[in-house]
Amino acid sequence: MGHRRPPHGEDRLGGVHVVAAVPRQGGPGGISPGRARHAVRSLYERPLLDVRDLTAPLLVLPVPPAGGLPGAVAPADVVATASRWHALGLRGLKLFAFGRDRSPKADEALDPENLMVRAVRSIKSTVPDMVVTTEVCGCAWTSHGECVLLTEDGDTDLTASYALMSRMAVLHADAGADAVSPTAMLDGSVRAVRDALTGAGHHSVGVSPNIALHTELYGPFKRVMRTDPARGNRRGFQLEPHRARRQALAQARRWEAEGADSLCLQPAMTAVDVLTSLRAATDVRVIAYSTSGEYAALKALGPRGATEYLGSLKRAGADLVLTFAAEDVATHLGAARDHAG
Ligand SMILES: [Zn+2]
Repeated sequence: MGHRRPPHGEDRLGGVHVVAAVPRQGGPGGISPGRARHAVRSLYERPLLDVRDLTAPLLVLPVPPAGGLPGAVAPADVVATASRWHALGLRGLKLFAFGRDRSPKADEALDPENLMVRAVRSIKSTVPDMVVTTEVCGCAWTSHGECVLLTEDGDTDLTASYALMSRMAVLHADAGADAVSPTAMLDGSVRAVRDALTGAGHHSVGVSPNIALHTELYGPFKRVMRTDPARGNRRGFQLEPHRARRQALAQARRWEAEGADSLCLQPAMTAVDVLTSLRAATDVRVIAYSTSGEYAALKALGPRGATEYLGSLKRAGADLVLTFAAEDVATHLGAARDHAG
């Protein structure tokens, strides 16, 4: 009589078959054997990231530097870029413009023919359903490079800074902007901008302030736009990385009280914990801004890796991801969709 091998999952113990402990499967959060079936898996499968989750920065410069960032374009290329992005499925962009004639009071920021205003007008007249958010800040327009206007003593001139941001916001809204983004992290600026927009009849124009951490990951943007201040005031406005989560939550409460419709957290790569905490603490939309310094890393990852990374920001709580990789990833998602179809 040959030796009988115990069936799989059993062992012989003194002639008694003992069923080995099988790990429990299924149940809430467990791994159900049913999911191994292709049809069942595809019933539950969702893409990690959709093109509608993405929005792109568009930087308008008189002469974009060679080898600059994606989306850093000359005025003549603004409409073609926005149209190309729209055709890829992107539905929003954030506009930044380069001040040519910088002055202590940022006068050019209020010129109705400056690069920002012209870009808003041309995009909204060509691709009207592309949602345009504009940066409202002094740093691209002031000769000292600060986000705010200064008193003669070099302190922040609150009244003048609020007035500048309010007038910029109304100018952008008049040109057709759907939302404005006060980015200076100056308490009171969101309220000032909100009130100015409402007073000018732009009730439906949104206000999307920044929640900005101090980081090395703004570098390429600051070099392209030349917005690195000569002095050090800006650091005082940004959140300190080692206590950013608590500071971000406090800032979010203040911005909400001042009338913010959404919050733009930057950077993303080194602040995912802040993103998750913000999502849990606020009811307004949260945009994760994957900044210029993150782009080199995303490029190295390639479009599939970048898709996975940007998708992880969505999972961590972002309603929208603002990224210099938007065009690369939108192209990749489109190709993957075509392939699947
Ligand atoms: Zn600024």
